[in-house]
Amino acid sequence: MAQIIDGKAVSLEQRELLKAQVEKMNIKPGLAVILVGSDPASQVYVRNKKAGCAQVGIYSESYDLPEETTQEQLLALIEKLNCKEDIHGILVQLPLPKHIDETAVINAIVPEKDVDAFHPVNVGKIMTGDYDFLPCTPAGVMCLLSHYGIDPAGKECVVIGRSNIVGKPQAMLLLHANGTVTICHSKTADLKAKCLSADILVAAIGKADFITGDMIKEGAVVVDVGINRRDDGKLTGDVDFASCEPKASFITPVPGGVGPMTITMLLKNTVKAAQLCSDKLGE
Ligand code: NDP
Repeated sequence: MAQIIDGKAVSLEQRELLKAQVEKMNIKPGLAVILVGSDPASQVYVRNKKAGCAQVGIYSESYDLPEETTQEQLLALIEKLNCKEDIHGILVQLPLPKHIDETAVINAIVPEKDVDAFHPVNVGKIMTGDYDFLPCTPAGVMCLLSHYGIDPAGKECVVIGRSNIVGKPQAMLLLHANGTVTICHSKTADLKAKCLSADILVAAIGKADFITGDMIKEGAVVVDVGINRRDDGKLTGDVDFASCEPKASFITPVPGGVGPMTITMLLKNTVKAAQLCSDKLGE
């Protein structure tokens, strides 16, 4: 039987630490959250991000823009927020409507306020290991591993998925932690063999219950990043929990595993951005 990695509990603990840190700061961290359109899932994420800010003492302001907002209007708002002194982090909820170029929007946020760590400058810094912000979901995974005393050093780490927001940065963070990392994707030959070699398996695929018990090694640490909605409306991950849990040493549930950590890491990045800004002002 695997030990269940409790993302809710770790997230709560991290938020308490952040709250204490914010209380001691001589600057109030501020986050601007921009939502374009009315995608129901995005609305829930944005609501949770704002609630998280309130919980730890971060000032937040939200911009709920209509679906027909033009790219120029969105870029103008970002430009304004880039210069706003009480805002230290800018978050644009993705995905954006199809008529808006996501890359142009990400690139318009000044790297110092890019608390999602999607800007090429921050992506580059993650590559070199000399970073200010870590991308939220992979950082959440690393925080969970560390909390449970799971050290990737010398371990076979297999990441399934190579997206810019999860798979690639996740692989890089595991590499920085001295894991031996394999990145798999939809063109990977014999995925099962790769999965079976993993001491630490991170699934970020977006396919419900894709990883089954016969694909994991006895005693593997299984981290499920996936969030998928079943036909009955219930949330499920990329890992078939029922068949993997008996073989794994540690496993994250969905919901209640990686999910709660993502927003907590966003809050952490916002506090860091404010601290860096305060340090700069004090120089
Ligand atoms: P993407 O769709 O951007 O990437 C999915 C990746 O999975 C791609 O690299 C794709 O390969 C790979 N893949 C797809 N099918 C297969 C297959 N049959 N075998 C092997 N690899 C495959 O998704 P994201 O990275 O954005 O998200 C992944 C999952 O994580 C989703 O369920 C998403 O909802 C969830 N998520 C959860 C978060 C959280 O807070 N917990 C935050 C962000 C995402 P290829 O590149 O070849 O197409």
